[in-house]
Amino acid sequence: MEFVSTRGNVGKIGFIDAFMMGLGNDGGLLVPHEIPVVSAETLQKWQELDYQELVLAIFSLYTNGEIPEQDLKELVYASYSTFRDPAVTPVRKLKDDLYLLELFHGPTFAFKDIALQFMGQLYTYVAAKQNKKIHILGATSGDTGASAIEGVKGKDGIKICILHPHGKVSKVQELQMTTIQDDNVLNLSVDGNFDDCQRMIKDLFADLDFKAANQLAAINSINFVRIMAQTVYYFYAYFQVAKQTGAKRVSFSVPTGNFGDIFAGYLAKRMGLPVGKLILATNENNILERFVLDGLYKPGDFRMTYSPSMDIQVASNFERYLYYVLGENAEQTRTLMEQFKSAGEITISGEALANVQADLSAYGVQGQECLNTIKQYEAATGYLLDPHSACGVAAADKCSSEGEITVSLATAHPAKFNEAIELCGIEQQFPEQISALFEKPQRQTRVDGSLQSIVRELEAFYNGK
Ligand SMILES: *Cc1c(COP(=O)(O)O)cnc(C)c1O
Repeated sequence: MEFVSTRGNVGKIGFIDAFMMGLGNDGGLLVPHEIPVVSAETLQKWQELDYQELVLAIFSLYTNGEIPEQDLKELVYASYSTFRDPAVTPVRKLKDDLYLLELFHGPTFAFKDIALQFMGQLYTYVAAKQNKKIHILGATSGDTGASAIEGVKGKDGIKICILHPHGKVSKVQELQMTTIQDDNVLNLSVDGNFDDCQRMIKDLFADLDFKAANQLAAINSINFVRIMAQTVYYFYAYFQVAKQTGAKRVSFSVPTGNFGDIFAGYLAKRMGLPVGKLILATNENNILERFVLDGLYKPGDFRMTYSPSMDIQVASNFERYLYYVLGENAEQTRTLMEQFKSAGEITISGEALANVQADLSAYGVQGQECLNTIKQYEAATGYLLDPHSACGVAAADKCSSEGEITVSLATAHPAKFNEAIELCGIEQQFPEQISALFEKPQRQTRVDGSLQSIVRELEAFYNGK
C-alpha cells in the first residue's frame, strides 16, 4: 500500500515513511492511495480470528511487507499484552438493538490505547532499526497524552512532549500524564484550549525545517496509523454481533471530537464491512453535527462540557473525510482547506452533502442530557457509562434505524471522569491503578499559550541529555 496526501502534493510513499511523516509535508493528511477492499469470503474467514489475528490480517493490507511478518507479529502481541480483557475490545449487550463496544481495557482506560500502544511499539522499533532519535510531539484533550506517554516512557531513542489545555482535562487524565517520572517525558500545561494546542502542533509540523531539525513524530490522529489501528475493532465488533444475532449489517454510534475514530469506521465501511449508518455523537461543541445537518463547517464558541475529551471545535480528520466526500479530488480539498484557513468556514451542498447524509447521522448531546443518560442507564441496566460513552448511547437512542442493531462505542472507563459521575449522585469504585495515581508526585511545566514559549521549552528538552 502506498500513501498520498489529501492535498495532492506528496508523491506516493510507503507505510513506514507515512508513519514517520505524520502530517503530510504539503499540510494535508496522508491516506491510502487506494483503499483495500475485502471480499465476502475474506470477511467470512476473519469472523473466526481473535483480536490479535485480526489486527495482523488488517495491518498487512497496509504495511505491504515493509515490516517482516514475524516482527509485526511481535509488535502486535506486545501492544495488546497489557490489556485487561482477553478479547481486547469485548462487546456487551445493553438492549435488544443496542450493543456497547468496550474500548477502555488498555493501560490508560480509554480507547486511545488501542492505536497508541501499537504506535509506541512501532516508534521504538523504527528508532532501533534506523538508529534514529525520535521526538514525539502531540496535543491532547486528555486521553491521547496519557496513552502515548504510557507507550514510550523510558524507551531508548525516544522523547515525548505532550501539550494539554491547563485546567481543562479531568483530574485522572492529568494525573495519568503527569505522574510519570521518566526523563524522556515532558508535559506542557498550556493556557488555552485543545484547539489552541492542536493548532500550534500543526504549525510546528508544517514548518518542515523545524520538523526535520528536531526529528518530530506525530501521535495525534493526523497520523494515519492511528486510523488504521482503529478500523480493527469495527470489524471485530461486527463479527461478534453478527455471530450472536445473525445481523447482516450494523450501525455504529461514535463519540466524536477530532473525527479520527468515526473516520476509522468510515474506512472500515469502504473496506467492505457491512455498516449501516455511522452516528456522529457530539456534545455542545457541535460543529460536526451542524455540518452533517446543513453542510456548513464553521467553528462556534468553545464550551467546556461533561465530556472534555470531545471539547474540540476544529476536527483534524475532517479533512480526510472531506477528501472522500469530494471523490478523492485533492485539488478541490486543498482549495476548500485554504478557504477554511482564510475565511474560517466551508460550505458543501448538492451531491456532496447528500453523500454526507447517506454516510452519517449526527446528534449533539446538550448539558444535563449527558448526566441524565448516565443515570437512566445505570438505573435500568446497572451499567455505568462514562460521559463520552453516554453521548454515544444518547445519540444511538435518537438516530438508530428501526430494526437495525447499533453498536455504540464505549470510549472510556467512568473512573477517568468522576467529576461527571459524582454530579449524577453515583459513587463508583475506582480500579486500583487509578486510585494509586492520587498518591504520586506530579511533573509538568505550565506555559502561556504562545508558540514562542512552546518552542523554547521544546528546544531545551530536545537539547538536554
Ligand atoms: C479522544 C476521545 C474521543 C473522541 O475521539 P476522536 O477520534 O477525537 O473523534 C471520544 N471519547 C474519548 C473518551 C476520547 O478520549
